[in-house]
Amino acid sequence: MRRIADRLVIAGVGLIGGSLAMALRARGAVGEVIGLGRSAENLRVARRRGIIDRAERDPERAARDADLVVVAVPVQTIAPVVSSLMRALPPTAVITDAGSVKSSVVAAVERILGDTAGRFCGSHPIAGTEHSGAVAAVPDLLEGRRCVLTPGPRTTAATRRRVHALWEAAGMRVEEMPAATHDRIFALVSHLPHVAAFALVNAVADVDQQGTRRALAYAAGGFKDWTRIAASSPEMWRDICLANREELLRAIDGFSAALERIRDAVGLGDAAAIAAELARAQVTRRRLGTAPPPPAVRLRARRGARRSRGR
Ligand code: NAD
Repeated sequence: MRRIADRLVIAGVGLIGGSLAMALRARGAVGEVIGLGRSAENLRVARRRGIIDRAERDPERAARDADLVVVAVPVQTIAPVVSSLMRALPPTAVITDAGSVKSSVVAAVERILGDTAGRFCGSHPIAGTEHSGAVAAVPDLLEGRRCVLTPGPRTTAATRRRVHALWEAAGMRVEEMPAATHDRIFALVSHLPHVAAFALVNAVADVDQQGTRRALAYAAGGFKDWTRIAASSPEMWRDICLANREELLRAIDGFSAALERIRDAVGLGDAAAIAAELARAQVTRRRLGTAPPPPAVRLRARRGARRSRGR
């Protein structure tokens, strides 16, 4: 595989940054990988697991001689981290991020970069789990998944090519779209479901405190499937809510209206209206097919297959 960077800085060696580094190293696509972080313990885990070659907590030391930087920290921290790297970063180095929100993040980074904004292209790898930190990183998290790039008008063609090559080297299918389109789509299919899962867990827990038999003790497939993502990092999701505020509010309003329609039909005992709502959702959901299993499940399935082949 062609080398995409001699010295790669991963700022935020968590689930996404760590998994990216693992995938690139496994394919021999990078030289040295420097992990920039704020938690010494997380950086120790990253070193121990062979995710990074060198750990740094000082941005200027991390940035020196780097030729590619991926900022994979919570979205409200992306621009401040870019700012902290700028003094020492060589002028030829290309910068991207992994943030789940694009318009506000891209605008903030471009403001910091000023005349040199051509070296930045926003990215959002569409892959993840509810786990976080270097401990959760796996080499095949990004494999075969989509990565959306949101180049701005100032992003140079060379930066775009470089960032395409980065995510492709990690096994991703790369496409581009305007940042505003990205934020509208992901408010609906990612940010709303997370917020709704957090709210569902809280709604049940609130009622549960009042009863003698705890309902959560009986939570089975349906509840656990829907709320798996409510175990995600509150820090990361707080930032996403704030950074994509307008689109998320629109998505929550749409969801409230859909829930209200079902509530009204149930309240009226209107069997036809209930059935119509449920049937419309069933058809749409079935067309979507099943989601690929999260990496831990894929790993167990592969081990199982190896064991049965060995028999
Ligand atoms: P994570 O919590 O696993 O990792 C984030 C890392 O950033 C942590 O190790 C944390 O210590 C570090 N960090 C925080 N502030 C820092 C700072 N100021 N300087 C240096 N390091 C700092 O989170 P993650 O899931 O890897 O998410 C990282 C980014 O990727 C976020 O912007 C998120 O929106 C995006 N993203 C997440 C997912 C997902 O499903 N988890 C999917 C796609 C994109």
